[in-house]
Amino acid sequence: MCIPPSIKIKKSNNGKGLFAEKLLKRDSIIFHFDGKIDDDTHTNSKSLQIDDNKFLESTVKFDDFLNHSCNPNCYIDWQNLNLVALRDIQIGEEISFNYNTSEYDLINLVKNCSFKCGCNSKNCIGEIRGFRYLTEQQKKKIQKFVSPFLKKKFEQEI
Ligand SMILES: [Zn+2]
Repeated sequence: MCIPPSIKIKKSNNGKGLFAEKLLKRDSIIFHFDGKIDDDTHTNSKSLQIDDNKFLESTVKFDDFLNHSCNPNCYIDWQNLNLVALRDIQIGEEISFNYNTSEYDLINLVKNCSFKCGCNSKNCIGEIRGFRYLTEQQKKKIQKFVSPFLKKKFEQEI
């Protein structure tokens, strides 16, 4: 699938990222995560976690460049697997979402994929290790954006 004309891959703080090529209105769909759901043998840092051992291997290649932010401007609509704008995104702004809303455990489940965050936002939590490692308060804060799988996990914890 080709990259939509509204976004472009460009250099970012940490390698490459996706940037808005035009004003992306709040609530608009930026792209759809097309792909197939695989078991954990194919897991890598670029896949999206769907269930305990299920990951979406995206066939939309450009989404590899979608970076994490602790204060993201997009979220995933899990019903339709779309990336949606949380607010208006200006031309030239980097597009991001919170990896902790999709990944449960980036240390054990997705092996050694935790990383030090460079988002520079006020509420940056530092090391990104997956939803599992957040405090209860941090979990509550992003609760409405997390995948159905993480919601289930959270309910089991409380
Ligand atoms: Zn951060």
